[in-house]
Amino acid sequence: MRILFKSFIKNILIVILAFVGIMIVFASLFSSSTAPRDITLNELANKINSQEVTHITVEENTVTATFKDGTEGTTKKETEAGLSETLKNYGVEAKTLQQIPLEMKDPSGWKLWMNILLPSLLPIILIGVFIWFTFRQARAGASQAMNFGRSNLKLFSPFKDKVTFADVAGLKEVKQELIEVVDFLKNPKKYADAGAQIPRGVLLLGMPGTGKTLLARAVAGEAGVPFFHISASEFVEMFVGVGASRTRDAFLTAKKASPSILFIDEIDAIGRERGAGVGGGHDEREQTLNQILVEMDGFEKESRVIVLAATNRPDILDPALLRPGRFDRRVTLDLPDINDREAILRIHGRNKSLAKDVDYRQIAVRTPGFSGADLANLMNEAAILAARENKTVIEQSHLYEAIEKVLLGPERRSRTLSTQEKEITAYHEAGHALVAASLKDADPVHKISIIARGQAGGYTLKLPIEDRYLHTRKQFLADLAMTLGGYASEENTFKDISTGASNDLAVASEVARRMVTRYGMSKFGPITFGKTQELIFLGKEISTERNYSDKVASEIDAEVEHLLASAHKMAKDILHKHKEALDALAQKLMTEETIEKESFDALIEEFKIKPTTFSL
Ligand code: ADP
Ligand code: MG
Ligand code: ZN
Repeated sequence: MRILFKSFIKNILIVILAFVGIMIVFASLFSSSTAPRDITLNELANKINSQEVTHITVEENTVTATFKDGTEGTTKKETEAGLSETLKNYGVEAKTLQQIPLEMKDPSGWKLWMNILLPSLLPIILIGVFIWFTFRQARAGASQAMNFGRSNLKLFSPFKDKVTFADVAGLKEVKQELIEVVDFLKNPKKYADAGAQIPRGVLLLGMPGTGKTLLARAVAGEAGVPFFHISASEFVEMFVGVGASRTRDAFLTAKKASPSILFIDEIDAIGRERGAGVGGGHDEREQTLNQILVEMDGFEKESRVIVLAATNRPDILDPALLRPGRFDRRVTLDLPDINDREAILRIHGRNKSLAKDVDYRQIAVRTPGFSGADLANLMNEAAILAARENKTVIEQSHLYEAIEKVLLGPERRSRTLSTQEKEITAYHEAGHALVAASLKDADPVHKISIIARGQAGGYTLKLPIEDRYLHTRKQFLADLAMTLGGYASEENTFKDISTGASNDLAVASEVARRMVTRYGMSKFGPITFGKTQELIFLGKEISTERNYSDKVASEIDAEVEHLLASAHKMAKDILHKHKEALDALAQKLMTEETIEKESFDALIEEFKIKPTTFSL
């Protein structure tokens, strides 16, 4: 509304300016350079009689006299009467008048018409201009409303913010696949000769932040063919019933520009399984999805349009989308491994100023499980931290600090703990750390802190030595003991338990249950319980269906309990045995609030703690 009002004011200003402009133009047209002065008829008569007038021009009722000194004077005569008649009344002899050259002028054409028309025309012109402006504005508004059936298809300009494969670290197989696709478009003959069918669609699957959108943009940069992109949610925004027509329009545009690439980002917004009816308005999605299927089937053999689509929810995608001839190629973008993480950090450090001793490898080591987006975010956070300290370069310490910030949220130093809370937190975290240090199969401790961060009251940062794709039973057991270390420490020290351990308990229970029901790591041996729909690549469980008896169910519960109880006992035993180390560590935490790996390792050394193996 404000914007409309602003442009309304603007239009009025333009009209006024135009008006003033017209006035100036006419004013200058009608005024001749040596403006004749007005004189009376009487004066004119006198001048004629004294022979000062050299020339007279009569134009309708206007009489212009030129005097001897070169000046001019103008006056009006009576409308009906002739000039000589009029002057006679003022005592000018006809003879005197005859001696002066007299010129009778017809009023010049356009001046006459202007005189007649301008007064009536000017308002009409002004109104016309005003109406034109108003309409133009209304049309601009209407075109936004009337265009909802058109897709907001964006042609990707390869010249602006160009992204290429060089900007995408890792993802070798995926890149290879996409290079092939681009090659299809560039050299169709090569593939046709070999009898290869050109793919219709490529689906990029991957967790959020693994670089799907980035990769699509890189394809655009590399393609050398028009690249259109649209986010699937744009198909169905605003009005009901426009999704299908927008889809049609998008495909039409891409086909016209063939060979071309059409990229549909976040396709799960519409590609949801039909009839699933999750959330309202699935009819709209269905229609849009149907239209996509129709369009993809409708591609003629020789049409060279390849559809790229990205999603992080392949589980909910309609199987019809995945049929051959549609998105028949699927590529998965995995979380980056240590080398890829280093490469991603490097890419995002390119345009930042970094201290010479910055070691990307060390950061990559400490960031297993980070996605590309997390790493990009990490580099940015590090730059912010450096700027906050008025440093001109990013130092290694900023990067370490940024890891924790990305991992756990910002430190909440403002949250002050009472002395008692501080003591509980210190013993809790010291418990985790000490159990971890006492077990061979636990991940090494990198940092302990009792400063609140994000949701956590305090935290013990432990990281695996290397990326891990497999987990052993011993590692799980050590994990369980270490997770329950905080609980055990509170119990040992205060003979009481706080709510601070509740998250630990939830995590431990989940791990123990999985060991029994999914990994065959219990007394039951090699068997799984429950039919679980799991997304292997996302590592998420969607649903579990029970396929065992009540008797087995209670046995499972008993086994889970047994695992947790054993881990709990292990943790308690360790902390009991190393009571002095625990006290020392907790005291140190209370005074220093954070303890880094080096000083923790020194303390472990000092108390001669030797890691043992925990097995059942
Ligand atoms: P997605 O679409 O998969 O959710 P994006 O493509 O939007 O993820 O990635 C978000 C950001 O993360 C990118 O803009 C980029 O800065 C960074 N990123 C992700 N993966 C990579 C990678 N492999 N190489 C470089 N940067 C990456
Ligand atoms: Mg994306
Ligand atoms: Zn804890």
